[in-house]
Amino acid sequence: MYVLVLNSGSSSVKYQLVSIQDESLASKGLVEKIGTKEAFYSYAIGNGEKQKEIRPILNHEEALSIVFNTLTEKGVIRNLGEISAIGHRVVHGGAKFAETVLVTDEVMQDIRDCIELGPLHNPHNLKGIEVCARLIPGVPQLAVFDTAFHQTMPEYACLYALPYELYTRHRVRRYGFHGTSHRFIASRAAEMLGKSADTINIINCHLGNGASVCAIQNGKSVDTSMGFTPLEGLIMGTRSGDMDPAIIQYIMGKEKRSIQEVDSMLNKESGLLGISGTTNDVRELFECIRKGGAEAKRAELALAMMTYRLKKYVAAYMGVLNGKADAVVFTAGIGENNAHVRKHALAGLEFMGIEVDQSKNENAVPDADIAAESSRVRVLVIATNEEILIARDAAAYVRSIQK
Ligand code: AMP
Repeated sequence: MYVLVLNSGSSSVKYQLVSIQDESLASKGLVEKIGTKEAFYSYAIGNGEKQKEIRPILNHEEALSIVFNTLTEKGVIRNLGEISAIGHRVVHGGAKFAETVLVTDEVMQDIRDCIELGPLHNPHNLKGIEVCARLIPGVPQLAVFDTAFHQTMPEYACLYALPYELYTRHRVRRYGFHGTSHRFIASRAAEMLGKSADTINIINCHLGNGASVCAIQNGKSVDTSMGFTPLEGLIMGTRSGDMDPAIIQYIMGKEKRSIQEVDSMLNKESGLLGISGTTNDVRELFECIRKGGAEAKRAELALAMMTYRLKKYVAAYMGVLNGKADAVVFTAGIGENNAHVRKHALAGLEFMGIEVDQSKNENAVPDADIAAESSRVRVLVIATNEEILIARDAAAYVRSIQK
């Protein structure tokens, strides 16, 4: 029996079919550019080679039909009855969902109610659920929210110091994102350190194109750097992270830009891209520095700003955890692969008991401990795996109804 993990976006659908028995991957794939003639479908069976087909795919219904047909036609499963549950990544669960839930009509309505909080993702996540309900009716669907893990943040950490009515009337508060990744890392770090999941204390740095840090105390999120939207916090690929909100009005006047244009600037033209002027991609920034010249200086500055902001968060969250972190963890594209960022984010924090062995750092292959032997706090590099956590939640539900 299998569970299907689905991540349904505006023009893409990603899936993984995972065995309930041993968590092995039966198939994974991706449909991209849905709604265009250049749409394509790529997939792999087990550990086999990736297959790719380019064909017009009009909508999500067609995309998911292709996925389901491939799974049966290629013999991955004999029939769709072998899919015991579907786990959907849903970005925003508002304050309503602190854990994974079975999708019911009421839950669908709650996800719809969160569209105004997560307008870029929730409508498409919802579409994935609706299409699955039509194509394979009767199969239980689970909603796994990016925000759920952070629902344990205390009020004093998740409220903004704005008029309180904005919170009660319009739900303006910090929600945090990347929750599934932070939760996965907390459980994997506990395993690596031989601690139980409810006693682990870590500072997790999820550093991808989007990035967030999370302070995890006794296995629970107590603070995180993203806020009402993913814009707050760290300097990211194209997002500014923290800044003085007064700048918005100032730029609108000076640059004659609308509020929508400034919002787009903060989300899509800022961060590493904005400072370097060349790219949001860390690998390309290093390439730029290697080549030298004027662009290299700006690339260096972008990286210096990014690691400095990260260091401030790590130090602040060590305070949040009363100095009792078991580990600082690095994960996602940059965190798992970039020794320079790890080195500079923790440089000078030896006074907090964080000592990195730079040789281990340079040669780290996740999952690894790169702390010096003498370090009081471990420093871990862990490959995140949000899909497996979604699969586990779906599998746990299947087991619960079999009892
Ligand atoms: P993600 O959003 O998790 O896919 O992460 C994207 C970021 O990770 C980009 O800035 C990439 O440059 C960076 N990245 C991914 N793979 C590597 C790698 N092997 N070495 C350095 N950076 C990487």
